[in-house]
Amino acid sequence: MAKILDGKALSAEIKQQIKTEIEQDNLKVGLAVVIVGADPASRVYVDNKKRDCTECGITSHEFALPEETTQQELIELIEKLNADENINGILVQQPFPKHINVTAVNETISPLKDVDAFRFESAGRIMAGKYSFLPCTPAGVMELLRAAEIEIAGKECVVIGRSDIVGKPMAMLLLHENATVTICHSRTKDLPSVTKRADILVSAVGIADFVSSDMVKENAVVVDVGMNRNSEGKLCGDVKYAEVSEKASYITPVPGGVGPMTRAVLMKNTLSAKKLQS
Ligand code: NAP
Repeated sequence: MAKILDGKALSAEIKQQIKTEIEQDNLKVGLAVVIVGADPASRVYVDNKKRDCTECGITSHEFALPEETTQQELIELIEKLNADENINGILVQQPFPKHINVTAVNETISPLKDVDAFRFESAGRIMAGKYSFLPCTPAGVMELLRAAEIEIAGKECVVIGRSDIVGKPMAMLLLHENATVTICHSRTKDLPSVTKRADILVSAVGIADFVSSDMVKENAVVVDVGMNRNSEGKLCGDVKYAEVSEKASYITPVPGGVGPMTRAVLMKNTLSAKKLQS
């Protein structure tokens, strides 16, 4: 039976460390959380992030804008937040309404306040291994692996998914730790033959029950980034947890695995942003 990589417990530890540092150094740290429209899932994510801020002693400043906000209005708000000394990090919750260009908005965020690491410059820095901010989800996965002392160097790692915010940076961080990395996607041929090679398998697809035990090598470490709803509307990952946990050596649950770690890294990045700006 696989050991659980407990993101809930580890994220609580990280948030406690952040809180202690903020209190000891008497820091004033602020995160702007911008949400456009009324997407219910985005609302939940934003509320969770605000709660994390409170737990860490970070002041969250929410800007909830109506669906019909124009791209120009959103950009003007971000420019104001860039200039505001009380704001150390800027998070614009995605997805945006269709009339707003994601790149135009992300590129407006000051490089010193890009705590989600979504700007092209941040992506380039991740590639080069010279970053100010790590992308929250992949960095959260790396923290989970590190805390469990899972060896990465020389291991076969397979990442399913090649998005700019999860799959690609995930592969890059594993590569920086000297893994041999394969990235799979919807055009990969014979996916199980690739995933079965993985000592560490990371799934970031977004389809419930996508990874079954016959796609997993005996004693593999399985990290489930997916956040989906099953037929009963319950939150679940990409991995068939019950059967895969019989075969894996370590596994992340959903909920309670990668999700809380993503948010803990966001808090870490916000504190780093404060230090960078001082
Ligand atoms: P995305 O942009 O939709 O990317 C999904 C990836 O999966 C794409 O690269 C796609 O391939 C690949 N894919 C789709 N069907 C496939 C198939 N049949 N075989 C192999 N690959 C397939 O999603 P994302 O933003 O990376 O997010 C992925 C999942 O992680 C979602 O469930 C999301 O909610 C979750 N997520 C969780 C967290 C967290 O904190 N836990 C954070 C971010 C995202 P193509 O490129 O070929 O289309």
